[in-house]
Amino acid sequence: MEKVIIIGSGPAGHTAALYAARANLEPLVFEGYEPGGQLTQTTLVENFPGFPEGIMGPDLMEKMKEQAMRFGARYKAAEVKRVDLSRRPFTVEADGETYQAQTLIIATGASAKWLGVPGEKELIGRGVSACATCDGFFFKDRHVIVVGGGDTAMEEALFLTKFASKVTVVHRRDELRASKIMQQRAMANPKIEFVWNSVVERINAGENGMVKSVILKDVKTGETREFPCDGVFVAIGHQPNTAFLQGQLELDAAGYIITRDGTKTSVPGVFACGDVQDPVYRQAITAAASGCMAAIDAERFLEANG
Ligand code: NDP
Repeated sequence: MEKVIIIGSGPAGHTAALYAARANLEPLVFEGYEPGGQLTQTTLVENFPGFPEGIMGPDLMEKMKEQAMRFGARYKAAEVKRVDLSRRPFTVEADGETYQAQTLIIATGASAKWLGVPGEKELIGRGVSACATCDGFFFKDRHVIVVGGGDTAMEEALFLTKFASKVTVVHRRDELRASKIMQQRAMANPKIEFVWNSVVERINAGENGMVKSVILKDVKTGETREFPCDGVFVAIGHQPNTAFLQGQLELDAAGYIITRDGTKTSVPGVFACGDVQDPVYRQAITAAASGCMAAIDAERFLEANG
């Protein structure tokens, strides 16, 4: 019987583990299919306080994990497939085994969204990607497009200019959602150009099975045209990883866990932190902060419930 099981190992999960470990709760952390979470897909993190020169995302996650382990947090490289929250102790299934816990902290984060257009799924790994850090290297001296108008899209576009000969940002409006500083950086980069008011309707492959063009639709005029490119980076936001909960917790319309009064979910003893419950701020630092809150909430729950 575990006192606390933490599901997820991004900044929220690691911070919850650190605080729970320091409260002698010996937390068990399931790392999930992407240990370290979204920050392992990024390069330099410049906005996490305490690192004036910035820190690489994977390094930051490794340091957080080390820090939690130093105080007794245990990590398992397994993905939780199912939970039963209908009674306490809660049941967690991972790696074909069943675990029981008095409290649960859910920190499963969010994953990149896809466009859902023809050609996209088939061409993932053949020119279609949602991670410039992972795949940008393959586009040396090529022309790639980035779909989206948020900070992620700007970050991906800027990163891709290190490899690509040209980066075209395709955005469905004529105004970016990205923060001003990211907009300025992207607009000042001579390798980046913008196609406004346009959406990708289809991704086409050439004879070699790799991306050769996209069909762009101008949402104002309705006109479509073929736009040659060698790669398509999709950067249109994220969706929360809550499918494994199967309706056992109250979620909002977009699938984010609803938390109230700190990190409390609709099931007493189950707490949620990080991007899985935060459609608004979605920052490493806010995720870490809510991880701390979840551990404190779990500790208080255990005290109050024997
Ligand atoms: P956002 O939700 O902020 O932006 C998503 C973008 O994709 C929007 O421009 C949106 O268009 C567009 N979009 C959404 N769905 C579609 C679709 N189906 N077809 C075409 N376009 C679509 O997500 P981000 O991932 O960019 O950012 C998430 C959060 O993370 C933000 O708070 C951001 O500030 C933060 N972040 C910060 C970074 C930094 O500080 N360095 C780096 C990366 C992220 P529309 O604008 O029309 O809605």
